[in-house]
Amino acid sequence: MLPLTESEIRASFTNTSAHEIARMTLPGLHEIVWEDREFLGWRDAHAIHRGYIVYWRDDRPVGILLKAAGSRMRPGISAMCSLCRTPLPGGQVTLFTAPRAGQAGIDGSTIGTYICSDLTCSMLIRIVPPKSDMQPDPADLIASRAEGLSSRLNSFTDDVLRAG
Ligand SMILES: [Zn+2]
Repeated sequence: MLPLTESEIRASFTNTSAHEIARMTLPGLHEIVWEDREFLGWRDAHAIHRGYIVYWRDDRPVGILLKAAGSRMRPGISAMCSLCRTPLPGGQVTLFTAPRAGQAGIDGSTIGTYICSDLTCSMLIRIVPPKSDMQPDPADLIASRAEGLSSRLNSFTDDVLRAG
């Protein structure tokens, strides 16, 4: 993705209040490798139940506030992130809810989905098996995973932004 500045990130949020945006803790942007990610996702260092996703959607940054449900899935079971579709131990996937944008969110309407607990889907989809007869080009596999991730993130954002 193209880089974002702190002010672009703070201005991008659609489903939260100015008060909550002011309280948001950002990650160290100078450490971000922008070209190897479909979205910037992080947990709030000072309010760990909050997570954030920001990405470029039709040439405009869109940010989504997420709230983690109280408990993670049980570690013993296997789970799958709904965005990157990476199979993971249950303890590494969290049920997040996103307030809907606009009046619906103010009225308490949310969209829930299971996502990687640390919101590092872009890193996970880049872990690929070595080149082999079965997998001739790891770059193709990453490209197809990235396309799927972006398309599922867009669908999730559609749900968050949908009026009513
Ligand atoms: Zn994921």
